[in-house]
Amino acid sequence: MEPIGKSMRNVTNRPDFQKRLSGLKEQVLADPDIQAFLSANSSAVDESVIERSLNKLYEYTQQSKGCRDCPSIGQCRNIIQGYHPELVLQGKTIDLQYDQCPSKIADDQRKKHESLIKSLYIPKDILKAQFQDIDFDDNSRIKLFGLIQEFVRAAEEGKRQRGVYLHGSFGVGKTFIMGAIANELAFKNIPSMLVYLPEFMRELKNSIQNSTLEEKMDAVKKVKVLMLDDIGAESMSSWTRDEILGVILQYRMTENLPTFFTSNFDLKELEHHLSYTQRGEEEKVKAARVIERIKYLATPFKLEGGNRRS
Ligand code: ADP
Ligand code: MG
Repeated sequence: MEPIGKSMRNVTNRPDFQKRLSGLKEQVLADPDIQAFLSANSSAVDESVIERSLNKLYEYTQQSKGCRDCPSIGQCRNIIQGYHPELVLQGKTIDLQYDQCPSKIADDQRKKHESLIKSLYIPKDILKAQFQDIDFDDNSRIKLFGLIQEFVRAAEEGKRQRGVYLHGSFGVGKTFIMGAIANELAFKNIPSMLVYLPEFMRELKNSIQNSTLEEKMDAVKKVKVLMLDDIGAESMSSWTRDEILGVILQYRMTENLPTFFTSNFDLKELEHHLSYTQRGEEEKVKAARVIERIKYLATPFKLEGGNRRS
């Protein structure tokens, strides 16, 4: 058998191999990024360094840098998805260092952001709402914006701040504003949950039999910032009022957990709604107790304006 060194020499000395090698070298040296790297390191890099590093330099030319050749993270064409190479000089060779590419960094941030906002039965477009999309143009909205900014600032510093009971007619943008608050909080790493209350109540009623009720209640009770959307639109029974709503609000009061509400009703109208359960019984004292809790948790604010749905 031929010694391995000799057979390698035979291969590398073959003219077609030499031709391919010089072609590779040409291709590598034509790459503008490699050219820039070589001229920046000209004092340390000579011909032998380049030849020793040819396979790494070739790998470098084949990878997308700064996401230039990849339309999205899902279509990343690099060896390690989401990572792009940088040239680094290590002694007498040039090596590659792979770091997260801009698309991956942005995608990770988006996922983290999304994971901070939990929602139940809230339309997708609402979850994308941002403050820059909202016109806080009239005096009342400017005041509301101030309240919300103050809330977010306090929450960031870990201070307790009352939420807002945002009421106004159908379509003025109450739920949209809640979505924007949730996003603003997520930018500050504060988790929140938006819950469309009528549907949540319906689901809880259906959960009595299957024992998931406690779990569902717990998630809503304990989340850092809770937004109860459309309170007053649910069909109220003494059970949903006292055992669900009352219990959630009581817990959040004693634990000092910020809570927002939206409603088509002002507090007086809501109190009336809560006084009359499905069977038409009047239970004023219990309704008043729920209203007291809402007042403790949130500052009432009337949102004016036209219907944005039309
Ligand atoms: P409400 O909860 O007061 O009934 P919504 O918040 O659901 O009203 O808003 C009604 C519609 O108008 C939604 O489709 C929402 O996406 C849109 N909308 C509300 N506020 C804005 C806004 N500031 N900019 C753009 N669209 C908005
Ligand atoms: Mg709404």
